[in-house]
Amino acid sequence: MKILVINAGSSSLKYELFNKKLDSLGDGYIERIGQKGQIPNHEKAVKQALESIQKKGLVTSLVEIKAVGHRVVHGGEKYSAPVRITPSVQKEIQKLCKLAPLHNPPNLAGIKACKKLLPKATQVAIFDTAFHQTLPKKAFIYALPYDLYKKEGIRRYGFHGTSHLYLSKVAKKLLGRKADRLVTCHLGNGSSLAAVKNGKSIDTTMGFTPLEGVPMGTRSGDIDPAIAVKLSQKLGPEKADNLLNKQSGLLGLTGKSSDMRDLLVTRKSNKKSQLAIDIFCYKVAQKIAAFTASLQGLDAIAFTGGIGENSGYIRAQICQYLPHLGVKVDATKNRKNTTIFSVKGSKVSLLNIPADEEKEIASQTLKLL
Ligand code: AMP
Repeated sequence: MKILVINAGSSSLKYELFNKKLDSLGDGYIERIGQKGQIPNHEKAVKQALESIQKKGLVTSLVEIKAVGHRVVHGGEKYSAPVRITPSVQKEIQKLCKLAPLHNPPNLAGIKACKKLLPKATQVAIFDTAFHQTLPKKAFIYALPYDLYKKEGIRRYGFHGTSHLYLSKVAKKLLGRKADRLVTCHLGNGSSLAAVKNGKSIDTTMGFTPLEGVPMGTRSGDIDPAIAVKLSQKLGPEKADNLLNKQSGLLGLTGKSSDMRDLLVTRKSNKKSQLAIDIFCYKVAQKIAAFTASLQGLDAIAFTGGIGENSGYIRAQICQYLPHLGVKVDATKNRKNTTIFSVKGSKVSLLNIPADEEKEIASQTLKLL
């Protein structure tokens, strides 16, 4: 029995095959699935993925694939757990396209393609928002006219849920009760943090969309909302949206690169690179500190994502703001990307955990079977 994990985006499709012990058997990435100006062809991409899986000898027959776990970005308030994809679930995902117009449509196209090409396999949806459905109302309601929540669904949903859930599970395995009050930091091209109390998300930095929170590769993160209004008046809503989502963050600040590796290379000679790094680390540290109020204390901080897993410099820069909370970095362990990199016996444990959203999706799919 094999489980296929599919992450279907607007221009690419990622896949990974697992056995029932959740060992990865192989993976792949298909890019540019829609040529410029054309509608992306997810069916063709899934076909290509299945052919590659067969060619590599990962299965002798496609019927060995008993289930497909699909990453679906938005589950709204309806889904707080993985769900088997029935026709009515598919309709709900379609309805939720209004909340995630860029992400849910390609996710849905991936589901439709897999249903057609693997008709005997159970299809499961794993939602990026699901883990944050335990947020209390005080954390997810914006101080806007209440009707906007009731009528339009305008509230904070949070994203990267599968990654935050995975981090919290690994942290619990490593630390037991000493991870009861945990801040999880997913720091990559997209970045978000979550306050996780006794395994449940009680607050997170992303909101109605992934634009809220800390600065990211190309997203601004939190800004005065009046700036968005002003930009919208000046540029029109589409260009303003593009500016905030695609031209801001590290890219906007440096004018050159959204890639943290580039900034780390140029920071000594380029003041803008250093400033972008400083802003990023300062804002992440502030969110960690804010979440200590949500958690009423702090036992551990877990880092993941391209930046969180790989850059000791960034982790150290973030932690330098937090000694008053009991955060103490072991510099050598941090430099070596060791899993537990806090000073032995320090009040707050610091963890570096490689992200594995695909494995978590496979694990949840298997559980549902
Ligand atoms: P992700 O979205 O999780 O793939 O992360 C992408 C981000 O991680 C990019 O900004 C990369 O520059 C950054 N990244 C990857 N490797 C490193 C590294 N060794 N040091 C610093 N940043 C890194």
